[in-house]
Amino acid sequence: MKTKTRPTGTKPAAWQSAIRGRINPGTERDEQGFRKLNPTEEYLKNTFLNILQNSGTAAASDFAESISLKERLILQNRTRLTRVIRSSVTRNPKTLYSFDPSPCPRKTAGNPCPYCYTITSSFKMPTIILPYETTREIQRLSWRMIEKLNSTGGIRIFSRGDYDGKPETDRQIETFLQDCQERGLQAKAITKNLSFVDRHHDNPGLTMINLSLDRFETVPFSTAREYRKKYNKVILRFVILNDSDLEIARRIGNCLLTFGHGNSSYTRKGFHTYTKEEKIRLTQPEESTCCVTGTEKKRNFFNQMITCMTCENCRFKCGIGGKENSHE
Ligand code: SF4
Repeated sequence: MKTKTRPTGTKPAAWQSAIRGRINPGTERDEQGFRKLNPTEEYLKNTFLNILQNSGTAAASDFAESISLKERLILQNRTRLTRVIRSSVTRNPKTLYSFDPSPCPRKTAGNPCPYCYTITSSFKMPTIILPYETTREIQRLSWRMIEKLNSTGGIRIFSRGDYDGKPETDRQIETFLQDCQERGLQAKAITKNLSFVDRHHDNPGLTMINLSLDRFETVPFSTAREYRKKYNKVILRFVILNDSDLEIARRIGNCLLTFGHGNSSYTRKGFHTYTKEEKIRLTQPEESTCCVTGTEKKRNFFNQMITCMTCENCRFKCGIGGKENSHE
């Protein structure tokens, strides 16, 4: 039997490696290079995959509902041998949680936005999304988390996906927004899909819609302006990939500027990764700029200083204030 030894060193590194060993006991890798699972994870993964293979996604959803949120997170993160199985509500460091009921239809059609971060990361894995009706996480979210999410402008809808207009997606969105309303949780959608605005704008559970624009006019600018005028909850959000985009955004007017897409792996495309200082220097005081006020240094679990993009300290909250001040 393996005996555990307490670290005797006073150096943080000794403690860090001991902590890592405890939370991640098997650092061994399997033949496909994935970390070996501990017995609980192995059991959950096997049960889930068995149900999935023998009885289909509906039964797998029932199983997912019967287990705790923590266990579900294990499933989401560890069932990676052939595909990722995840709930529609997932955690992320910037917005705490997000709701993604459908994969991005552009990406599915093989035509993703040129700056899409999900095509350069682990999101590449084929994914099965458990329908929200079978998981209902918002009903079980703690009051503390609801308060925290509301302090960031609400839970984000569409982070790694976008609206695909399918009836089953509409059902999930309606159930989700109903739960948000019942629990007093605000919800803000960030989308490029105009049909989402037409279909869900008037849902009382929805607080705000950010229509995401870019230099490629994936949403035509003139249509975006019309939507902003027509729909009370719509604000415009412009993706800044290099300095010339600032001019375009200013011509459109009243846009929330978002710099977070100039991923460093895209510099060959002429996209720039902006530092916080550059964002402050380049933008004008009256402009709403995502992730400037929200960026902060934090210590992570291993006591290392890291820069976090977080919405908690943001004063714009995805433009809610900006909409009131600048709507024509
Ligand atoms: S504008 Fe503020 S609340 Fe919205 S994503 Fe950016 S940092 Fe977060």
